[in-house]
Amino acid sequence: MKNIVILGSTGSIGTQTLEIIRYHKDIHPVALAAGHNIDRLEAQAREFLPRMVCVWDEERADELALRLKDTPVKVASGMEGLLEAASMEEAQMVVTAVVGMIGIRPTIAAIQAGKDIALANKETLVTAGHLIMPMAREAGVRIYPVDSEHSAIFQSLKGEDSSRIARILLTASGGPFRGWTREQMAGVQVEDALKHPNWSMGRKITIDSATMVNKGLEVMEARWLFDVDFDRIQVVVQPQSVIHSMVEFLDGGIIAQLGTPDMKLPIQYALYEQERRDLPGARLDFAALGKITFEAPDMENFRGLALAYQAGRAGGSMPVVFNAANEWAVNRFLNRRAGFLDITDMIGEAMEAHRRIPDPTVEEILDSEAQTYELLESRWSD
Ligand code: NDP
Repeated sequence: MKNIVILGSTGSIGTQTLEIIRYHKDIHPVALAAGHNIDRLEAQAREFLPRMVCVWDEERADELALRLKDTPVKVASGMEGLLEAASMEEAQMVVTAVVGMIGIRPTIAAIQAGKDIALANKETLVTAGHLIMPMAREAGVRIYPVDSEHSAIFQSLKGEDSSRIARILLTASGGPFRGWTREQMAGVQVEDALKHPNWSMGRKITIDSATMVNKGLEVMEARWLFDVDFDRIQVVVQPQSVIHSMVEFLDGGIIAQLGTPDMKLPIQYALYEQERRDLPGARLDFAALGKITFEAPDMENFRGLALAYQAGRAGGSMPVVFNAANEWAVNRFLNRRAGFLDITDMIGEAMEAHRRIPDPTVEEILDSEAQTYELLESRWSD
């Protein structure tokens, strides 16, 4: 029996991870963590009986502790609880499926405790990749990508020499507004942006996909995971979401991974450390699909992708500002206090105002995050 910890167990990735565990029955989650959804966390705790659960919100943690009084499950809260869960002695792997930069400290704690990482929480690698990747190498810890594109690249690289990569071809669906102009996107409402054509995901990443900021975050994530510079990471729009990404090698050969859009495959591939287990679900029917099409990304109307390349190339604390501004702006958009196009305008403004720190420490990353929030609060408060 393999023991794992799931940070963000009540979310889209977290619940699909538990579905896989339920199906194979040879992995035990020893700790589960969530933000505030104690109804779902209680049900998960009763079904899987982890040693501990963690709720970010302290009051809700107290309420959950009362509800779970008849079980042996310990309830913790806040960052302290997340760090305790991430470094639990009996766990071999930590699934980082929380949303946002809140994942940085628990991911570092897990690596320092020698746990392998199944990494969904891309914001952590985008903002602290320069610290996390060397730390993981030093600790002999493996990082298994969960993001479907990065898993596809990881799968395409199996048995290959990564020094022979010519280009990474990161595929993108283009989101619900593919082909739209900025004028057309000006009136986009929350409900429109939450309708992704191919993938069912959490709210924040769904908005990120609509702005194409998600693809920008993925470009930066790929840079750290596969140690490839930005000039060799090319985004290709593939609207059917059938090719999950590709690697072109120095001899011109291209290896791709294809399949129906289902996050359970990359999650399972990470959980079982690249072992191919059976997985029920729809299969790709090429005759029914008919065609797979390709386009270049539209970086003028989807400014977020261009800004991501700019932030990634600048490096240092600039990706932190890109990401923090996006987290702030998406939250505001979801609360109907900003327009759709304001999201990338806010990112651009925050980046312009920032004085880059070359090699930020965790404290400097968190400071840059706080300063970005302050700047946007002062400029955009209503
Ligand atoms: P969801 O919003 O569906 O879930 C987020 C999870 O994080 C929930 O369990 C939430 O708890 C928990 N959480 C939020 N804040 C905290 C906190 N402060 N402390 C502890 N737990 C917290 O997100 P997704 O599952 O969609 O995404 C998770 C990550 O995976 C993101 O970084 C995303 O970019 C990445 N990803 C997601 C994909 C997908 O298909 N969904 C695909 C590829 C990457 P609660 O429910 O209580 O709020």
